[in-house]
Amino acid sequence: MNIVDLRSDTVTKPTPAMWDAMAHAEVGDDVYGEDPTVNKLEAMAAERMGKEAALFVVSGTMGNLVALLAHCQRGDEAIIGDKSHTFLYEQGGMAALGGIMPHTVPNQMEGTLCLSDVRDAIRGDDEHFPRTRLICLENTHNACNGAPLTPWYMGRVAEVAREHGLKIHVDGARIFNAAAALGVDVRELVKDADSVMFCLSKGLCAPVGSMLCGSHEFIKEARRARKVLGGGMRQAGVIAAAGVVALEQMTERLVEDHARAKRLAEGLAELPTVVVEPVFTNILYFRLAPEVTLTAAEVAERLREYGILIGPRSARSFRAVTHYWIDDEGVERMIEAMREILS
Ligand SMILES: *Cc1c(COP(=O)(O)O)cnc(C)c1O
Repeated sequence: MNIVDLRSDTVTKPTPAMWDAMAHAEVGDDVYGEDPTVNKLEAMAAERMGKEAALFVVSGTMGNLVALLAHCQRGDEAIIGDKSHTFLYEQGGMAALGGIMPHTVPNQMEGTLCLSDVRDAIRGDDEHFPRTRLICLENTHNACNGAPLTPWYMGRVAEVAREHGLKIHVDGARIFNAAAALGVDVRELVKDADSVMFCLSKGLCAPVGSMLCGSHEFIKEARRARKVLGGGMRQAGVIAAAGVVALEQMTERLVEDHARAKRLAEGLAELPTVVVEPVFTNILYFRLAPEVTLTAAEVAERLREYGILIGPRSARSFRAVTHYWIDDEGVERMIEAMREILS
């Protein structure tokens, strides 16, 4: 029985085309700027985002941290959502390693920050205060039902940023999911951002890596920051080759993952003891109704017997993520298994 792994889109193994590209990658020393495959991937990423330049980094966490280090000095402040991945799940790297102070603002249910909250969070010019430098946004928003932020919203945040001379960084780990869900070119989503990070290693199926994109000047600073973090890689073309395939072949098909997440939501919503959250992209949150006596961990354990892996989020709730290696049969198996376990 093949395993239906709904824990995350990070579990995606490389596609056959990626294995082939990695086996035959042309490589060189990327710290010398001599890896042709990394150079190609960086040029492609910049082009896709409509930015001047790009940098290949080992992970999304490194990409966000490098961006923060490049935008901010020690003691500067960054405005950031209180449910954002960077605030919750990156060990406070900005503070720990960059001396950058996070100024949290509540994330609204659809992943946005209220513009009035952002305005209130911006510090005036006063020697008592840290200097506000940066606004961080997340698109799609992992903890807010995988919701996409729209070009319209980005434009409104950019107005506030421009008024106050602030930069904008987008944690776009799943920015191509946002573009697919909204039916817009990804450039539209990031044209108002000074920098954007996106992951090759999630729905795009590459084994390793994320891209950070921005101006030439910004990427020059980011390259320095990557080096001090130990992220200067040598013959990284071996893994960058899979990233090239990811950008060439994997972005358009994300709508299939979204359709399967919707189908999963519909199937689970038919069960009287499951409460399903709204689904926008490839991420679905759902929880057990109060009358269910099993805990989420117990349900997850029972699902293993059906060859299904899923991540409990709390004592009563789950996150399921669809991706390239989840097919229609896997979605139906999950719905049927939940029906049997909860009946
Ligand atoms: C996964 C993720 C990251 C971090 O990426 P890693 O490659 O796991 O370090 C950052 N932001 C968001 C929204 C993510 O989902």
